[in-house]
Amino acid sequence: NYNRSLEEAVSFMKKHDRFLVLSHVNPDGDATGSALAVAQMLRNLGKTFVVINEGETPARFSFLPGFEQIRNVSQSPLEESFSAVIAVDCADRSRMGNVEHLFAQDVQLLNIDHHPTNDEFGTCNVIRTDAAATAEILYDLAVAGHLPFQADLALCLYTGLLTDTGGFRYSNTTPHVMESAASLLKYGVNPGEVAERCLEVITLGHVNILRQALGSLKLSFQNQVASVCVSRQDLAEANADREDAGGLVNYCRNIEGVEVGISFVEAEPNVVKVSLRARSYVNVAEIAKQLGGGGHAKAAGCTLHGSLDEVRDRVLALLGEVMGVKDNE
Ligand code: 5GP
Ligand code: MN
Ligand code: MN
Repeated sequence: NYNRSLEEAVSFMKKHDRFLVLSHVNPDGDATGSALAVAQMLRNLGKTFVVINEGETPARFSFLPGFEQIRNVSQSPLEESFSAVIAVDCADRSRMGNVEHLFAQDVQLLNIDHHPTNDEFGTCNVIRTDAAATAEILYDLAVAGHLPFQADLALCLYTGLLTDTGGFRYSNTTPHVMESAASLLKYGVNPGEVAERCLEVITLGHVNILRQALGSLKLSFQNQVASVCVSRQDLAEANADREDAGGLVNYCRNIEGVEVGISFVEAEPNVVKVSLRARSYVNVAEIAKQLGGGGHAKAAGCTLHGSLDEVRDRVLALLGEVMGVKDNE
């Protein structure tokens, strides 16, 4: 029961004194906004906490209150061991990255998430798979727990709602999302500024890598699938990093008539980050799950080992099976 789990999450926050707050590797706006929203709530409850990520948090989110306190534990290791951990927007333990050395043996772990592939890895789990964003669940949590809203908390939650709905455009944009967002605006969130920073601004590196990636565009299965590949060499030549390669998959999915868009980005030698987006009927979470990843029905991903060509062939073959199309032309 969702309401009961919200109550349990609030008592989890009240019961413990010191917390480790974290989100998933390569954090997005929902992961970062949600982690910082939890931090705001804990601060308001008089608790102490450390907010971490396994890696770096994109500078795009530096406008979020508390951003500068997020610790990149792969760069500045932490010695402390935590007995209370709050994980947001993580579908499973592996999404947290290499952070479990920070957990005490008898760690109490609060798992707050909206992914259908969530495996309830927490000791306390608040999962609503029809929520558009983890931030939407946290909005409900703040209401259920009578936690005070103020400008900082509102900005963090609004950012999660905005980014995980693609600017209130995806099919996960429900009345509840709009009502929550509207009420957050009343705390002084500037919607134009948040959208500008999260959705409009693109880096020069992104434009450069886009130019390269479009050259690799491949249409398969009677133009129902579109994919692009980005190698490490492409990234180097474009003076771009992995973060700059985000969003390429949308160009594929947005092509008229395409059902599934895919981007293959070589993150490390022989390690390929795969992003999948569906337009209507294909469930890409199921495909990603079969490949060791996960996500949502219309946006999912995984990381595979092999060369770009090997990984592309493997994913396209599986996709052809699932879509029931044989002819890979
Ligand atoms: P993206 O393609 O933007 O990295 O991710 C799209 C969606 O799939 C996000 O909701 C993200 O959380 C999920 N996702 C991406 N990669 C993985 C993965 O390796 N494992 C799991 N469980 N989810 C993933
Ligand atoms: Mn996320
Ligand atoms: Mn999310």
